[in-house]
Amino acid sequence: MTTIDGVAVYQHLIDGRERAAADGRTFEVRNPANGAWVARVAEGSAADVALAVGAAAAAFADGRWSRLPGRERYRILNRVADLLEAALPELATLESTCVGRPLRELRAQLGRLPEFYRYFAALARTYEDAVLPFEGPYHAYARRVPLGVVGQLTPWNHPLLILTKKLAPALAAGNTVVVKPSEYTPLTTLELARIAGEAGLPDGVLNVVTGFGAEAGAALCSDKRVRKLDLTGGTETGRVVAKLAGENLIRVTAELGGKAPVVVLPGADLDRAAAGATFAAFVASGQTCVAGTRVLVHEDDAGALLARMVTRARAIRVGDPLDPATQLGPLVSARQLERTERYVALGREEGATVACGGYRPGGALAGGFFYEPTIFADVRPSMRIAQDEIFGPVTCVLTYRNLDQAVQIANGIEFGLAASVWTSDAAAGMRFADRLECGIVWINDHHRIDPSLPWGGMKDSGMGRETGIDGYREYTQTKSTIVNLEEPVDWYATTEVVRLS
Ligand code: NAD
Repeated sequence: MTTIDGVAVYQHLIDGRERAAADGRTFEVRNPANGAWVARVAEGSAADVALAVGAAAAAFADGRWSRLPGRERYRILNRVADLLEAALPELATLESTCVGRPLRELRAQLGRLPEFYRYFAALARTYEDAVLPFEGPYHAYARRVPLGVVGQLTPWNHPLLILTKKLAPALAAGNTVVVKPSEYTPLTTLELARIAGEAGLPDGVLNVVTGFGAEAGAALCSDKRVRKLDLTGGTETGRVVAKLAGENLIRVTAELGGKAPVVVLPGADLDRAAAGATFAAFVASGQTCVAGTRVLVHEDDAGALLARMVTRARAIRVGDPLDPATQLGPLVSARQLERTERYVALGREEGATVACGGYRPGGALAGGFFYEPTIFADVRPSMRIAQDEIFGPVTCVLTYRNLDQAVQIANGIEFGLAASVWTSDAAAGMRFADRLECGIVWINDHHRIDPSLPWGGMKDSGMGRETGIDGYREYTQTKSTIVNLEEPVDWYATTEVVRLS
């Protein structure tokens, strides 16, 4: 990495080498807490993507990774986990500087990442293929083999976590990868790729092209040599990517938007539910796909829950993300801040009441993209603030009269990613969870993840699953082999009807 006028310059990483953009363009990455420049980064075009896909295709074809025995991939991925673990303090600071998330949150989140490499390394070593009950004198088996070159498009909200959820299974399964990280937060992706190289990942197996979605991202989606695209992003981006991929019959996994309900069942402990609902809504300043932004509470409990949530939201310490005491940082960009302000104004116009927040803090925070934690009361399910993904620190409290109505409100939305249910009766919680149309439901918790958990949405929240054994399988395809154990049939030597299947 070089510097110009004291600002770091990051290049693409292609075939194990740093490379400037073919046409020399760069773009800037800024710190959302104060608007200061963090780095200049190579701006990728179709030419850079073609080079990276070419490197990944060559690496796949010669088997330097795809044909390594599982135990070798296991060894190298464990080494990636070890080096990543050692680098986490610097990575957390760099990620906080680009995303604006409090260091405290990032330390907690990034501390989990090495587990993902170790979990999928173990799968590479232990995954058992199937011998099939194929009728007749045959031995038939189906093996899982890698897909080839896979393209990964990642968002800015959890750059390293989401990359890791895709990368660990992709590499464990033997694929080669081209990543196009978000234009807001490409730095830690480049750092991780460098660490993977140090750990012994062969050149060309993991390539990173930085740049914008409409140019570098679209070029990756249109390259016929790519066998799978794995996107985490907005629902509209999902439609664009799936359309481009469809032209070339490239398979797509898409983790898209969400608007998770936080359902407080009658009889739930309201202190616990209020703590859970505020955490679900405001962690990462509400910029998570599973943000709990629709709190559904029985009408008899609504006042008591709202009062508890407001007290907690007002106590959240908003400030410099690098200060270990900070609990809520800025939004990632001016665009996200404007979007949040627009939706709060819309909520007011729609007749909802701002119970707390609803403004940008001033003073020392005025130069960053900060917004106070905001809770809307008097919200109807049809309001735009209760239907659209805002992706800011804004949540809505809605009331229900009975559980059927609660189910109807929870499911009455185009998204179906996640939900949480708060209850003092686990069986009632599970019965309610069964009725929700979404891919992930927590009971008495929110936001918890694990490498073993299949992750993904229903309806407009996406298709396919990330992580878990399902996620590993999605980075493979089956290859069936049928071995005849007897004399082969000589079909044209006889007129007899021989059974072929
Ligand atoms: P985004 O859709 O703007 O971008 C995601 C990635 O796609 C970026 O790398 C971007 O450059 C690229 N991209 C954008 N347009 C493209 C195009 N036309 N062709 C190819 N690539 C393109 O999303 P974002 O703003 O970075 O992230 C926020 C969104 O991600 C939210 O909607 C959030 O809900 C969603 N998200 C979903 C999950 C999940 O697990 N379901 C997790 C995190 C974030």
